[in-house]
Amino acid sequence: MNATPPTYHTEVLIIGAGVAGLFAARALAAAGRQVLLVEAQDRLGGRVHTLMPAGFTRAIEAGAEFLHGAVPLTEGLLAEAGISQQAAAGQTYLVQDGQVQNEDEASFFTHLPQLLARLEALAQDLPLADFLTQEFPGAAHAPLRAMATQFAEGYDAADAHRASAWALRDEWAAGGADDSPRPVGGYGPLLHWLADQAQLAGATLHLAAPVQQIRWQPGRAEVLTTAGATYHARQVLCTVSLGVWQREAGQPGHLSFVPELTAHRAAASQLGFGAVIKIVLEFRAAFWHERLPELEFLLSEEPVPTWWSQLPDPRPLLTGWLAGPAAARRLTASDATILQLALESLATLLSTPVADLQAQLRASYVRNWGTEPHVYGAYSYATVGAPAARAALATPVAGTLFFAGEGAYEGAASGTVEAALVSGQAAARAMLALPPP
Ligand SMILES: Cc1cc2nc3c(=O)[nH]c(=O)nc-3n(C[C@H](O)[C@H](O)[C@H](O)COP(=O)(O)OP(=O)(O)OC[C@H]3O[C@@H](n4cnc5c(N)ncnc54)[C@H](O)[C@@H]3O)c2cc1C
Repeated sequence: MNATPPTYHTEVLIIGAGVAGLFAARALAAAGRQVLLVEAQDRLGGRVHTLMPAGFTRAIEAGAEFLHGAVPLTEGLLAEAGISQQAAAGQTYLVQDGQVQNEDEASFFTHLPQLLARLEALAQDLPLADFLTQEFPGAAHAPLRAMATQFAEGYDAADAHRASAWALRDEWAAGGADDSPRPVGGYGPLLHWLADQAQLAGATLHLAAPVQQIRWQPGRAEVLTTAGATYHARQVLCTVSLGVWQREAGQPGHLSFVPELTAHRAAASQLGFGAVIKIVLEFRAAFWHERLPELEFLLSEEPVPTWWSQLPDPRPLLTGWLAGPAAARRLTASDATILQLALESLATLLSTPVADLQAQLRASYVRNWGTEPHVYGAYSYATVGAPAARAALATPVAGTLFFAGEGAYEGAASGTVEAALVSGQAAARAMLALPPP
């Protein structure tokens, strides 16, 4: 006998138990709203995932890891949860043509004043690649163009042919992401604390419940999951990633609205959502100390170009980072292929045979966010026209549908945990400004 699929009723249904959804759930439940949160995956956290894969001696971060720049909401929440931060330490090295240089000698930052002067004079926004060919043409400027492109692709996970020159001007003028601390123990404990807080305030959390369709009319919504469950709500807060918004009908992970939200969908497709592959390697010892004693960051033009250690934590762990178009080209690559690519890059950078690295390797972990179910990318980047598109994506519909998540955030903390918190908070406030449903 087939069981009837369950039906639930709630005032507020939140879709997605990532940073934005959990933060909004806590605020709404604490204000007395009846809140039910549905999450597609069988774990909470979304792009925050602190885990301990087989072979590792301690937990690692598969997703968010640092506190980048001014992040007051994140810092306030960490303090409230009693989680301390650890400042990063060490030296950034650049490896070019087999030569190790430290960051002050030759780097993106030597080109920065020249770049910023032209960017500040730019009267109309352009994609970065167009700006570079227009303002810095010819062979003489090739190193500057390569550095700027590499930085936008590697740090912002952006496609230089779509990324907004104005947005990069604002980011670079603010000084980039120097001195980024980490939450001690990772971001995972913060997310679990937030979920506990939301549940203590009365919110209910349903995991492994992927929403497929939202049928709505002013004042009511009927939300259907792939397993056939139905949720009836007065208001829905949708916090899914830009990657989910950009899925076509018929692709796995597509979320449909009936009637369709044409303006929101168009805004989402106008925005950029970058791919990232993270490769985490734990070694038996920090054998790189001989060559690079203070290694914090290592930047290069290798296929896996960026690496970092855990300094001041002496743990012999290196994280490889491949972002932007280079990561998007490897959506179908196996983890074994990516691991091999990473080991080859690292072997070149450390002038060590791959076999020696393999002999030192205790554990490895590859996470390809471009293929992550229910996320399909790592974080958003600003394209030309992004401020208006983000505002359109965050616009509520008929006091019934609300939107949040890092992709809908407009401001200096773009692409971060802070962005997701700010946007979750803004959506919760907008919902609370209306009379209870
Ligand atoms: C590799 C990587 C490194 C990063 N590094 C940093 C960093 O160092 N510092 C920093 O501040 N930020 C970093 N970020 C960005 C940060 O992780 C994100 O901005 C933030 O976690 C986004 O939170 P969110 O709630 O907006 O979205 P998400 O985390 O994507 O949450 C949305 C949730 O919705 C769920 N969902 C999707 N579709 C459905 C559906 N149909 N039904 C139900 N649920 C659904 C998803 O499973 C997910 O749990 C990084 C991200 C990645 C991927």
